Amino acid sequence: APFSPATERLTVMGAGLVGSLLSLYLARRGHVVDVFERRSDPRRAGFQEGRSINLALSDRGWKALGGVGVADDIRQVGIPMSGRVMHDVHGNLTRQPYGHDGQAIYSVNRGHLNRRLLDLAEAQPGVTLHFGQQCTGIDLRTKELHLRDTATQQEHQAPYARLFGTDGAFSAVRSTLQRTDRFDYSQDFLDYGYKELTIAAGPGGAWQLEKNALHIWPRGQYLMIALPNLDGSFNATLFFPFEGPESFAALQTPAEVTAFFDRVFPDAVPLMPALTEEFFAHPTGSLVTVKCFPWKHGDDVLLLGDAAHAIVPFYGQGMNAGFEDCTVLNSLFEAHGDSDWASIFAEFQAQRKPNNDAMADLALYNFVEMRDRVADPNFLLQKKIEAKISAQFPGRWVPLYSQVTFSDTPYAEAWAAGQRQDAIMARLMPRIKAEADYDLPEVQALVQQEMATRHEPA
Ligand code: FAD
Repeated sequence: APFSPATERLTVMGAGLVGSLLSLYLARRGHVVDVFERRSDPRRAGFQEGRSINLALSDRGWKALGGVGVADDIRQVGIPMSGRVMHDVHGNLTRQPYGHDGQAIYSVNRGHLNRRLLDLAEAQPGVTLHFGQQCTGIDLRTKELHLRDTATQQEHQAPYARLFGTDGAFSAVRSTLQRTDRFDYSQDFLDYGYKELTIAAGPGGAWQLEKNALHIWPRGQYLMIALPNLDGSFNATLFFPFEGPESFAALQTPAEVTAFFDRVFPDAVPLMPALTEEFFAHPTGSLVTVKCFPWKHGDDVLLLGDAAHAIVPFYGQGMNAGFEDCTVLNSLFEAHGDSDWASIFAEFQAQRKPNNDAMADLALYNFVEMRDRVADPNFLLQKKIEAKISAQFPGRWVPLYSQVTFSDTPYAEAWAAGQRQDAIMARLMPRIKAEADYDLPEVQALVQQEMATRHEPA
């Protein structure tokens, strides 16, 4: 883009998924962008990436990537997952499609996605990446960043004109805002932690479980999931209580881990040759919801991504929501021009706060769905009936999962519609014992009645 008079020197703190994409958006609008990142450059030889981790990317994420022209090449390294495959304690499988034919969420490698976005940002005129620079705080009055060079441990300061805080769930930018007057803040940890484990590739890099699916081992109070990788392996994640009879605290030795997994995940164990080593070598992650407000300070600091709204991972939407922040910010630039920062920041937080709050609730709601409800035949029957209603009333009944995952309907609207749908299904399901019952005259009459009283999409 041509450099306009509105061009400003902007600062982005944190070059994770959201920060690297945001830098690209800002620079494409003609701004000059300095990006600071605590880690060293993940594209440099010798960089210790740690474990390979994958994320589910869905429509909101694709839309944001598409806005800077990278959706297609990311899609090439993503694996479509068209549904869930549930594994019961005997290894029996049940399938549930996520949407209609052709709809899928994608398993993408976090490191690859981040490196690709950094490549693009760096190639974009106007962007300068500064790695190994940790923000330790900011001076809001003098507009200075406090930075520590992680190689030398030297502290130094740098001025900023406008600062975008994309430094994640434990944001240093946010922690400075937290000390300002009337700043609301809450963080809630679940009593659950997570452990990343590996389902190995088979001979010749073959996938040992169905490739194009997200696998779930729902066990009521806890669960394990697995997402496919390109090399034939799967990243598995165990979401498990920290304390209690079945918990991380209760599994202290390799023998205890093996006995537990043999009992509750018997079909997975033969595919996890490194189970006990990984179980004790990999850290136990915690799961937090962070809410805060305002997301801006005057018209010179703005929080986006996890820094503004970290959520638990059960809807696979954290990154997607942060990417959608970039889409919305960009559309506000289009509406207000590139210099009316006060309006842009004010409207950004007014639009995004209720939607990201709704997404935080949805993520917690889906925790119960994934660990418990997906194992219930009645729940799976209900999903089939919902698909029938959706087919019978096109556009008037879009299942909640589809609204969240396969649309850009604001999260708050999706959540409200989902609650209306749940209420309708609670009245309908007592009359339905099998899929064919949907066509019974009394059931059809009730469906018609429910849908007739609706004036807006359920
Ligand atoms: P981050 O990715 O955390 O990036 C923040 C960046 O800032 C990092 O590079 C960090 O090094 C840097 N930084 C931090 N502090 C400082 C500092 N003081 N100074 C300088 N730099 C700093 N989302 C999905 O959409 N789909 C999924 O399937 C999914 N699965 C998940 C599974 C798990 C187990 C977890 C924990 C999360 C999952 N998420 C998922 C959520 C997703 O990971 C986050 O929402 C996303 O990473 C947020 O991006 P971000 O750029 O805001 O923050």
